[in-house]
Amino acid sequence: FTNFDADVSKPRYVRVNTLKVDVESAVLELRKQFMVQKDDMVPDLLVLPPGCDLHDHPLVKNGSVFLQGKASSMVAAALAPEPGWKVLDACSAPGNKTVHLAAFMKGKGKIIACELNKERVKRLEETIRLSGAANIEVLNGDFLKLDPKDPAYSEVRAILLDPSCSGSGTAADRLDHLLPSHTAVFLPDASSSADHCHAADMTDPERLKKLAAFQKKALEHALSFPAVERIVYSTCSIHQTENEDVVQSVLPLAISYGFQLATPFPQWHRRGLPVFEGSEHLLRTDVVEDKEGFFIALFVRKTMILAKGN
Ligand code: SAM
Repeated sequence: FTNFDADVSKPRYVRVNTLKVDVESAVLELRKQFMVQKDDMVPDLLVLPPGCDLHDHPLVKNGSVFLQGKASSMVAAALAPEPGWKVLDACSAPGNKTVHLAAFMKGKGKIIACELNKERVKRLEETIRLSGAANIEVLNGDFLKLDPKDPAYSEVRAILLDPSCSGSGTAADRLDHLLPSHTAVFLPDASSSADHCHAADMTDPERLKKLAAFQKKALEHALSFPAVERIVYSTCSIHQTENEDVVQSVLPLAISYGFQLATPFPQWHRRGLPVFEGSEHLLRTDVVEDKEGFFIALFVRKTMILAKGN
């Protein structure tokens, strides 16, 4: 994690919260101060020159625009839930992707935002309040303990699973902000209430093994919801252990439930590491080249078509 120039040499991305303002109006407003372009892949994402500081911009303060990177914005876009659907965000705080899902659904339908950590629920609620989304129900609990047969979840059609991970894909960016006076970086962690860990923890094999075991369990659980048609599994990790290996390990189960891997953003050049047949469906972003190291897998089940066709 030595490329600390990455932050100033790459463009700034902001996501327009279409629940509050349309993309054209946000572009017009931001163009009063900055050069603004629309991203070529995510429809509500804008690209600004490197180094633009928008933290105090009125559009950011009032929740019309969220400071969210491209890779992070690709996650909810890959799930692409439709207005009216019931959607479960399994590990949701601080909620950037939850409110992006709400924007995709145009405020119609329902999102259940599950979060285990009580403190982080507060941040989730604050993000939801800022976004103006009115169709999100917050659930402070353990996703692994939700009963897929419970009528509350029997109509869930899409699940976003963005579980605790090593955070290794965002380390350079975060260290850039924190060094030299601090070396601790933020890490969401299911096993501890601590919000910080040291950079060395991100590559500790024992820790990665524990995280991967949790990620696998959570993905298997997501696959077991009866009406689910689309599942996105995402991490901000660069490690194969947390990414391709987790997906490969659940594939037999996924196939037995009728799921297959689909290709989110087929025009994107960086795909999964070639460690199993089908890994070309997976999507990766590079920690230096793309500014954040993210991983996205999309599982799709054509249950409804099969049910109608047979
Ligand atoms: N999707 C979020 C976003 O974009 O803002 C980030 C999610 S973060 C990577 C993972 C979250 O999962 C953490 O807030 C963590 O507390 C939570 N978490 C961990 N284990 C969980 C569990 N068993 N059930 C529900 N939430 C869990």
